Amino acid sequence: MSGTTEQRRGYCPSVWTPMESGDGMLLRVRAGARTLHAGELRGLARLARSHGNGLLEITRRANLQLRGLSEASLTGAQEELLRRGLVEASPEREARLGVLVHPLAGLDDACAELDALARELSRLLAAADDLSGLPAKFGVVVDGGGRPLEVSADIRVDVRPADPFLAFLSAGGALLGAVLVDDAPRAVLALARAGHSLGPGRRMRDVVAEHGLAPLHDCLRELFVMAPVPPASPAPDSWLGHHVGRRSWFGLGIPFGAAEASQWEALATLAERYGSSQVRITPRRTVVLLDVAQSEVPALSDTARRQGMIVDPRDPLLNVVACAGAPACRSGCHETRAFALSLLRPLGARLAAGATLHVSGCKKGCALDGPADFTIVHGEDGPRLGLGTDVAGTLAAAPLTIVELKARLAELGRGEPS
Ligand code: SF4
Repeated sequence: MSGTTEQRRGYCPSVWTPMESGDGMLLRVRAGARTLHAGELRGLARLARSHGNGLLEITRRANLQLRGLSEASLTGAQEELLRRGLVEASPEREARLGVLVHPLAGLDDACAELDALARELSRLLAAADDLSGLPAKFGVVVDGGGRPLEVSADIRVDVRPADPFLAFLSAGGALLGAVLVDDAPRAVLALARAGHSLGPGRRMRDVVAEHGLAPLHDCLRELFVMAPVPPASPAPDSWLGHHVGRRSWFGLGIPFGAAEASQWEALATLAERYGSSQVRITPRRTVVLLDVAQSEVPALSDTARRQGMIVDPRDPLLNVVACAGAPACRSGCHETRAFALSLLRPLGARLAAGATLHVSGCKKGCALDGPADFTIVHGEDGPRLGLGTDVAGTLAAAPLTIVELKARLAELGRGEPS
């Protein structure tokens, strides 16, 4: 095993800090701030097959996760990712680059252009050796508006196409103010440094809870400009299907965000055959193929559907999230994804109408932070069902048997009162 590899349960996994799970080690490749080439995607799929268990999963921060690596295969996988330029050679530098850029930037008219900002931000973060020791889950979100990302961040930068010269900064979920967009990268660095010095190794929300916003305002004093709070994003629209903005794109859904290597290879081929070979991963468990002509949509949709991908925005599976669960995850008390699929029969109509289902293998609730219309949390004493609540709220319910749970869901699926 690599001497630079750290393995600790509960640690946010990366290429250099793999995490042990029920099916072996898992590692995450940063994909949330870059456009992947079909060749890179195919390479990752082959790596998942040759060095892992063949599964490649989209994470909540739009990264790609390989599962089922062994002690023997791990170093080879790390070397291959390094050779392909998909990871930094320095684990400290790699850890600082947890940036998620809106995947529709430069494509969607409702999303601001973010390329220059994101490139400069990544360059500054990579060079900021004094920021070693940031918390493993430290993350920056650069959002250009349009379809909502719904991803939490230590530091958030919001730019809107209506005023693309301004960037609004938030830390730990609290809005701080606006800076010129050209100043946004160094403003993020200043915030990261201030947070790191106030609470070394702590998440920004904890720093804000303990110290308030004043010290963070202070570090940006010279950069702030007066500006009104940005308008709310337009109503959500589907990430799926064909769209035309500054460029055209086609969005495909990956059930549970997890697909076999052969499906990812097929997806790479779709990107080459019907688009410009460029692919972006989204935090909504979808993949965007760039530069797809309208005339290619029927053939693309047909092939993708046959590969098990979701192309219909009304597909009820789009509204279902389920973590890896048992046996892949050692903390899991029950299998999750096949179980979630078995609930499409009782809940399909409700899900197709927009209701959401979250199946969690244990009380950690890795797959979703917020509430769902139906939340099922498996425990040692059985599953619990929460309605319109999150995992914490669901834990207040009494445990059921699987038979009781399914009977209850069948009633709810028929619209019977709760
Ligand atoms: S929520 Fe799921 S993936 Fe997370 S620890 Fe529990 S079983 Fe594992």
